[in-house]
Amino acid sequence: MARVIDGKVGAAQVRGQVRLGAEAFHSQFGRAPGLDVILVGDDAASAVYVRNKEKAAEEVGFRGKVHRLPANTSESEVLSLVAQLNETDEVDGILVQFPVPSHIRQDAVIAAISPAKDVDGLHPINMGRLWSGLDGLVSCTPAGCIWLLEQLGVKLAGMRAVVLGRSQLVGKPIAALLLQKDCTVTVAHSKTQDLEAVCREADILIAAVGRPELVRGSWIKPGAIVIDVGINRTPSGKLVGDVAYAEAFELASAITPVPGGVGPMTIAMLLNNTLIAAKRRKAAG
Ligand code: NAP
Repeated sequence: MARVIDGKVGAAQVRGQVRLGAEAFHSQFGRAPGLDVILVGDDAASAVYVRNKEKAAEEVGFRGKVHRLPANTSESEVLSLVAQLNETDEVDGILVQFPVPSHIRQDAVIAAISPAKDVDGLHPINMGRLWSGLDGLVSCTPAGCIWLLEQLGVKLAGMRAVVLGRSQLVGKPIAALLLQKDCTVTVAHSKTQDLEAVCREADILIAAVGRPELVRGSWIKPGAIVIDVGINRTPSGKLVGDVAYAEAFELASAITPVPGGVGPMTIAMLLNNTLIAAKRRKAAG
């Protein structure tokens, strides 16, 4: 039976560290780290995510503002707000909540954010720095997955890791981070043949596909560590991951539940990235 990796406990620990870091930053520089969030339109789920981020930022003592813009805001209006926030010294982190309405190009918005303030870690410069092994800002959910893995205290070097999913947001950055930890990494996706056999080779299996309970117990190598990034709602309204939890629990050595695993780490890592960005900007003068 697996050890359950509790993301709520991990997130509370990270938030506590960030709160202390924010206090130290404030005493040194006379202001709190600042996170500004841009929300375009009235998507209900996005509004909830943004409220949660706003609350979490307040709790660790950050300053900041949520810019709530109507759905018909033009792309150039969003880009000029981003440009203005890039120039505002007290803003250390800029987060644009995605998805944005379809008349706004997500790539153009990401490219407009100063890489030094890109706390979502999505700017091509930060992606490139990650794959080059250089310091940058790393996408929050992948950073949270690696933080949880490191807490297990197992030697990651040399382990065989399989990442299911190759999105810019999750799969690719996780693969880069695992490579940095000297894992042997396979990235699988919708065109991968015999996914089950590929997964069964994994000492570390990271599932980020957005397909409810795609990964069955028979896909898990006995003793594997399973990190389930997926968040899927079933027709009955229940939240499930990409892994059939009860089946995998019998075989894995450690596993993240859904909810309560990777999910809580994402906002904690956003706060951590904002503190990192604030300190680096001050260090750069
Ligand atoms: P995404 O952009 O839709 O990417 C999904 C990836 O999975 C793609 O690479 C796709 O392959 C692959 N895939 C889809 N169906 C597959 C299948 N049947 N077999 C193998 N690979 C398959 O999704 P995402 O943004 O990476 O998110 C993935 C999941 O993580 C979602 O459930 C999302 O809600 C969740 N998520 C959670 C958090 C959190 O805070 N916990 C944060 C972000 C995302 P192709 O590239 O070939 O299409």
